[in-house]
Amino acid sequence: MSEKDISLYIHIPFCKERCDYCDFLSFSGMGVDVQSLYIDSLIKEIDMYRNLIDGPVTIYIGGGTPSFLPVKLLRKLFNHLSSLIVGENLKEFTVEVNPESLVRDKLNVMIDAGVNRISIGVQSFSDRALKSVNRITRVRDINRALELINSRSGVKNYSIDLIIGIQSKGELEKDLEYILMLRPPHVSVYLLHISPGTPLYKSIKNRKFIPPCDEEIRDMYLFACEKLENANYEHYEISNFAINGFRSMHNCRYWDYGDYIGVGAGAVSKLGSKRWENIRSLIDYIDTVRHGRRPVSLEEMLTEAIQVREKIMLSLRRKFGVDYDILAGHVLKDREEFKNYVKFLIEHGYAVKENNRLRLTDRGFLVSNEIIAEIFDYIEAGTSLNA
Ligand code: SF4
Repeated sequence: MSEKDISLYIHIPFCKERCDYCDFLSFSGMGVDVQSLYIDSLIKEIDMYRNLIDGPVTIYIGGGTPSFLPVKLLRKLFNHLSSLIVGENLKEFTVEVNPESLVRDKLNVMIDAGVNRISIGVQSFSDRALKSVNRITRVRDINRALELINSRSGVKNYSIDLIIGIQSKGELEKDLEYILMLRPPHVSVYLLHISPGTPLYKSIKNRKFIPPCDEEIRDMYLFACEKLENANYEHYEISNFAINGFRSMHNCRYWDYGDYIGVGAGAVSKLGSKRWENIRSLIDYIDTVRHGRRPVSLEEMLTEAIQVREKIMLSLRRKFGVDYDILAGHVLKDREEFKNYVKFLIEHGYAVKENNRLRLTDRGFLVSNEIIAEIFDYIEAGTSLNA
């Protein structure tokens, strides 16, 4: 039996329609012929890494919308993936689905191949909110998909994604009430990100969509944190909440700085101190793999300095935070100023220090980018980051 300690990510870059806020790598309007060529390339790319990824610990199929693939292509992909699973090595196998495209046949294919976790893109239980950002899912689709998932005893573990910022405060309260009534094992709560170039960005400029102001978003996030934490969800990462025993193992692997291979257009891999990113163009990706070449567009060496910074960043986004002595050990000058900054964070409720670990509070999570940037300034002062 393989004892490899590696995870596998598979990217499916197809969606029926594009949501107005989306800045993920996904394409709408692609026919089955293109999807079929893509799946063939994915399988070929998986085989390029065969020695590395036989017996992965976790598999995660994300997108895009993996459940949008026709059942025939899903079956082809999952049959191939089944051949990678070695003994008891695989601990978690997740597929992202969108409610409107999840049907019984597709779910059966997934479960028969060993999928034991479904991540459902809900975003809100308000049709008004969903329509306002051109999301094609409707509440009736969500309820139907949840019924379907609950009808299959193989899936005890599922996660609901929620986006804060597409709904009003009143709608968010209802979203959370509904979620707490359903009690999914895992909930991800993201803040609406308004990326330049997206249709949403233009709608805001034209005043066709008025997002909540920063203060409202802040209140809504804190409200969601409080509701979920009071209902015994562990807020184990900035955007993630789980009931006991249901953290996302695959995502924890990224945050633990573990090794993973990503296949598909735009997918990222990390192996030891090497990281690479695949070609993002669909046609170039398909073509490169068809010619037997690795579809890599970018490769970087993770120097010790990069690793230090990334580990600190990932730790501060998690409940456990960072070992204070290790963090302070990276500050070689301006130490007093650094200590004062940490004191400031604690006194103003942005961080706490417990058992010698510094961790951000829910309020701190809201401004984590600023806090992490400030901490990096102290580390940069003391460490040669280009070393
Ligand atoms: S379903 Fe997800 S990946 Fe597809 S367009 Fe919407 S946000 Fe983007």
